[in-house]
Amino acid sequence: MLSIRMLLHRRVLGLVALIAAFMWAACSVETTINDDDDDGGGGQAPNLVGAADVNIREVAIYQGIKRTLSVNGAIAASEVPLVAGRDALVRVFYSTPRAGTTVTGRIELGSGEVLDSPAVLVAESTDEGLETTVNINVPGALIGATFDYRVSILEEGPNENDNAAAHYPAAGLESHVVEGPQNTFRVVMAPFQYNADGSGRVPDMSEPALEVYRQRLMQLYPVSNVEMRARAPIPWSGAIQPNGQGWQEVGIELFGLRNQDGESADVYYYAIFNPADSFPQFCGQGCLLGVTLLNADPPDVGNPQLRVALGVGFPEVGPDTAAHELGHSHGREHANCGPGLDPNSIDQNFPHAGGQIGTWGYDIINGQLMPPTMTDIMGYCDNQWISDYNFRALLDRGRNVNLPDGVVDEGHGYQLIAIDGEGQVTAWKDVGTVPAARIRNNITAAIFSDVGPTQREGTFFRYDHLPGGWIILPKTEQETTRIEVVVDGKLVVAQR
Ligand SMILES: [Zn+2]
Repeated sequence: MLSIRMLLHRRVLGLVALIAAFMWAACSVETTINDDDDDGGGGQAPNLVGAADVNIREVAIYQGIKRTLSVNGAIAASEVPLVAGRDALVRVFYSTPRAGTTVTGRIELGSGEVLDSPAVLVAESTDEGLETTVNINVPGALIGATFDYRVSILEEGPNENDNAAAHYPAAGLESHVVEGPQNTFRVVMAPFQYNADGSGRVPDMSEPALEVYRQRLMQLYPVSNVEMRARAPIPWSGAIQPNGQGWQEVGIELFGLRNQDGESADVYYYAIFNPADSFPQFCGQGCLLGVTLLNADPPDVGNPQLRVALGVGFPEVGPDTAAHELGHSHGREHANCGPGLDPNSIDQNFPHAGGQIGTWGYDIINGQLMPPTMTDIMGYCDNQWISDYNFRALLDRGRNVNLPDGVVDEGHGYQLIAIDGEGQVTAWKDVGTVPAARIRNNITAAIFSDVGPTQREGTFFRYDHLPGGWIILPKTEQETTRIEVVVDGKLVVAQR
């Protein structure tokens, strides 16, 4: 039994590695999955040891904002949360007299994955020089409830040349709690068709246009994923003025639509409209870009009914406006930056002068550093990013509102496997639907068919007063012949 479970575990990890390799193929930092640890003998991989005269000083991870993991050989405390399922960059800061030498950066993770990334040494790493650190992309799929890692800067050589200062920690893995659970931020765009000027204008809600909004939210919000779609346009005859007239009515309509459409409680509704042909035409004399009721009570979740916001859809300002307004519907007040802020709307707890972000940021979409002088998205200034303060605050809200991805229907329905307390299968049925409420994936199953094994996320529901429970998995295109899944430490095998 034990050996079968271990085999299953290895296969699942192998699939994760494949997905990870695919996800990062197009990325600027070249990270590869190292598969040297196959137990079947294999090729003559070069022997890599800690590079001579390299001294690791600091390790930091970036999922939007710098979070220091260790400094000068000791674990570092940080207020910046880690988020499960969210892509990350790990930077290793070092010093060395051997500038110009090519090395291999490596991270070993608690899951058993080993990721390698080539680098050319410089004398001294700096925060502002992305190229001065050894950088390793860690796909979100490899960040779970804890982040357990060891980094090394390696070169070829015999074991006796190993330099202990080029590894951190010296032995074993350093473990950090991942505060943010896997969570998906869901937004429905509600385009208002502008008829007041007879134009019938609707903002571009094509897939590429939506993707721009989705990526902006993904950059700034501490979430594992952003799901976005557009609902059907709403014909609207009321005028929407740059001075704020006509906005209330849109908000009230949106509030009603969100209830009427029957989306689940975690979904945010965003009204979007273009009351002129262009942004300069609308905003020539100054203008309102968006409006949201501050949704701060109760602080942990806000009011579900107020998960609504509205703003203009002009491409120059639309994505930042959406990120800002949706911040208000997460209960965030203004960062003190820019003209025209109502003093009562300023967040008195915001810690950085001038509404600046206060720490180094990093764009996980485009692979770029963001200097600490950029300003928080909740202000009115330009050059916006997310501060450490609001990154944490958005997570504190999001973790209570955004549910993780549940079992995903691939269009073939679901299968239900009932098991007893011993993990024995008592029934295996195809079912058309699963309970309407969003559910939490908590198992990974190997699914076998005539075309070979694949892997799917699913959910185990426990009976409350009986041992055992139900496993729900999506059906795949091929007829399933066998399912293997570990539930409560027991291997469950369903066979047809
Ligand atoms: Zn605002």
